[in-house]
Amino acid sequence: MAKKITIVGAGLAGSLLSVYLAQKGFAVDIYERRGDMRKYDIGGGRSINLALSTRGIYALKEVGLYDEIKKIAIPMYGRMIHSLDGKTQLQPYGKDMSEYINSVSRAELNKKLMDLAEQYPSVKFYFNMRCLGMDFDRGEIYFHNEETLQNTAIRSEIMIATDGATSPVRMEMLKLPRFNFSQVYENYGYKELAIPPDTGGKHKMEINALHIWPRGSYMLIALPNMDGSYTCTLFLAYDKSLGQENSFERLISEDTVKNFFNKNFPDAAALMPGLPKDFFQNPTGSLITIKCYPWCIGGKAALLGDSCHAIVPFFGQGMNAAFEDCTYLNECIDKHNDDWEKIFSEYQQLRKANTDAIADLAQENFIEMRDLVADERFQLKKKIESELFKRFPDRFIPKYSMVTFHRFHYKVALERGHIQEKILNGLSDGISRIDEVNWDKGEKLVEANLEPLDIVQDLTGF
Ligand SMILES: Cc1cc2nc3c(=O)[nH]c(=O)nc-3n(C[C@H](O)[C@H](O)[C@H](O)COP(=O)(O)OP(=O)(O)OC[C@H]3O[C@@H](n4cnc5c(N)ncnc54)[C@H](O)[C@@H]3O)c2cc1C
Repeated sequence: MAKKITIVGAGLAGSLLSVYLAQKGFAVDIYERRGDMRKYDIGGGRSINLALSTRGIYALKEVGLYDEIKKIAIPMYGRMIHSLDGKTQLQPYGKDMSEYINSVSRAELNKKLMDLAEQYPSVKFYFNMRCLGMDFDRGEIYFHNEETLQNTAIRSEIMIATDGATSPVRMEMLKLPRFNFSQVYENYGYKELAIPPDTGGKHKMEINALHIWPRGSYMLIALPNMDGSYTCTLFLAYDKSLGQENSFERLISEDTVKNFFNKNFPDAAALMPGLPKDFFQNPTGSLITIKCYPWCIGGKAALLGDSCHAIVPFFGQGMNAAFEDCTYLNECIDKHNDDWEKIFSEYQQLRKANTDAIADLAQENFIEMRDLVADERFQLKKKIESELFKRFPDRFIPKYSMVTFHRFHYKVALERGHIQEKILNGLSDGISRIDEVNWDKGEKLVEANLEPLDIVQDLTGF
């Protein structure tokens, strides 16, 4: 009989992981707190659409699902910056049109992953089963059935928790000696709003872009949906404790909301008939970074995805990183066959430093998105970066590209990103135009500080 693995949480990572494991010949039982989202609209208040990029695509290709997902993905070739005066400017993400990120519906992606998983008779989903905790010594996991209100204990030799940022399994690990854990909330929240399609069902703005209204300490973004609408997300401070003039705390009446949008995002506000009602109807989400270690208890249990490395969403990498966890765990299974202690141990060694790095990269990118993209010096640095990339395609790869269009370790992207930033600062200092750049100095700095990287073209292409 096939060895059984229990997964807790049938979100994005858990559903994908079940496919990987089924393809390896394991029997997989996957327990999910919510009802089956393919039958009921379970809402949930999490982001409606997500940016899918190379790491996530790689994993989807590995399990053979990418062609299906591609049908529901909208390419976004760059950031469309919306200035206060209504002017727009497209800043491409990649070196050319072959490099783009994809707007995908979270729910559709999750449903398709579940459908694919269920094509394997060895995968069984159990819905409305809320995990309460686990006894690692006994190998028992405890669930509460939200429909029958009964509690059950399930025995499992091997368990993987993909139960998200509030992971009850991780909470159980917290009780063990020498378990490190940190959670940091931003003083920023997010609110989802919508730009509906026009009367003909078409998109009201450029479809193939991620729209940003950067306003210094806060920002609005919009990602396109297949039905002609956009999901907008306002990122704003909760209160003025960090000195921000604008905050959720101040937006307490329909008038304050209307005024805030008309003043700061007039072109977007004109396309949002649901304002200000949606603002008060939709929840304000919080933003958290979670780091912990270890991620596993011997060969018995392991954490994967947001349960061990929830990050802020500003690099669009949380799901991509969780999918990449699956890729690496899969490699470790291949390597260590049935030795789960070695499998989990190597998986966490490979991933921990890298997920810490993407947590830091995501924090850095918030400042870039909400503030710097509209800045002239930033734009000059982007031009210099692009020229250095042309001259040194395997040495000076923009940080955004290393994270989004390649599968270099996140740690490498973080470290090289900092070196590159120093070079760009040095070259842009005291000048205002690209033709003033001292390219000799630039070339020497690149050659002295950045070793060539091995550019792999495997399953990463779009
Ligand atoms: C506003 C926002 C925007 C984002 N944008 C992007 C983006 O553009 N690109 C990107 O890559 N990432 C993005 N992310 C991050 C992404 O959403 C997460 O990294 C991703 O969902 C992690 O997947 P997961 O499966 O680990 O966790 P989740 O998707 O949270 O899934 C966890 C699952 O476990 C279930 N569960 C929870 N508790 C229990 C329990 N007690 N018992 C049983 N089941 C349980 C949940 O119901 C859920 O189904 C964004 C996040 C936010 C908040």
